[in-house]
Amino acid sequence: MTNPSPTVARTFSGIQPSGAPHIGNDLGAIRNYVRLQDEFEAIYCIVDYHALTSTHDPDRMRRQTREMAAALLALGLDPDRCTLFVQSHRPEHTELAWLLTTVTPVSWLERTPTYKEKRLNQPDDINHGLLTYPVLQAADIVMYKATTVPVGKDQAAHLELSREIVRAFNNRYGPTFPEPQAVFTEAPVVLGTDGVRKMSKSLNNTIEIFAPEEEIRRQVMSMVTDTQRILRTDPGRPEVCNVCQLQRFFGTDYLQLWDGERTARTGCVDMKRLLADRIIRHYAEARERYAELMAHPGRVDGILEAGADRLRPMAAATMTEVREKMGLR
Ligand code: ADP
Repeated sequence: MTNPSPTVARTFSGIQPSGAPHIGNDLGAIRNYVRLQDEFEAIYCIVDYHALTSTHDPDRMRRQTREMAAALLALGLDPDRCTLFVQSHRPEHTELAWLLTTVTPVSWLERTPTYKEKRLNQPDDINHGLLTYPVLQAADIVMYKATTVPVGKDQAAHLELSREIVRAFNNRYGPTFPEPQAVFTEAPVVLGTDGVRKMSKSLNNTIEIFAPEEEIRRQVMSMVTDTQRILRTDPGRPEVCNVCQLQRFFGTDYLQLWDGERTARTGCVDMKRLLADRIIRHYAEARERYAELMAHPGRVDGILEAGADRLRPMAAATMTEVREKMGLR
């Protein structure tokens, strides 16, 4: 039995259950997950195996896995139009990852920027999973022969590595997997509240989507704006101000807003208040859906189980094909 390349193009992406989703996740990736549901056969995965490289707290893992599922559903994933599942519910992923490690030179993994970064971030826990992380990621994608992978720009190097691993496998064992292609949104890198680094949970510079309203306001009001604008009467520079940049995604009138900044008709505080209001309004319905889903955890768990079941035949077919090609039967 083989799993031929799909006749309908497939998209796949994974997201870690590593805590509260932030607007960087949504603007950089989740928006594309939602959009691509209508154009592709879409498969989305909560990658708990990946999260184990940084978290060793079982209760937290369970809670955050469900929270991430509820968040994705609240933000627009529709179980009738996509398949949403938890990585560890399809254990074939780790088997395929092992097989792919055997065609992946260690040097490729050691030069991955995220590995170098994580070594610095968690010096007391440089576990083997951190190094092989991109191989598991490649396995996730090629398990379903996905060709399109919606991610933020920070994942570009991993995707490139996935393509290299696919080429290494296909060269050795014959054409098996398509080379996956990253797709980005119009906000491939959303900066954090510090205005310089990528918005990221681990950098504590996020604007959370599902936090209480006061917390969202606090996070937005803490944003660093144009550091050269000292006085309220100084003209602003919207092209370097992160608050102004974010306005592009939460209203159609951002050019007018930018004009107000340039001419100092508005100040940074006005702009932040407006942004906080707009972010809260933009996600109001999603917040209601999130609360509703979290009040009915059985519903969320049922969607995840059904997703993993639906993928069983596809995963089994890929594993049979790969085992045969590698001489394992
Ligand atoms: P991971 O830990 O696997 O990178 P994250 O939770 O950090 O997962 O991110 C999930 C998705 O959101 C990924 O596709 C990532 O590229 C994207 N993303 C995360 N932060 C940002 C950001 N600041 N700007 C744009 N996209 C982002």
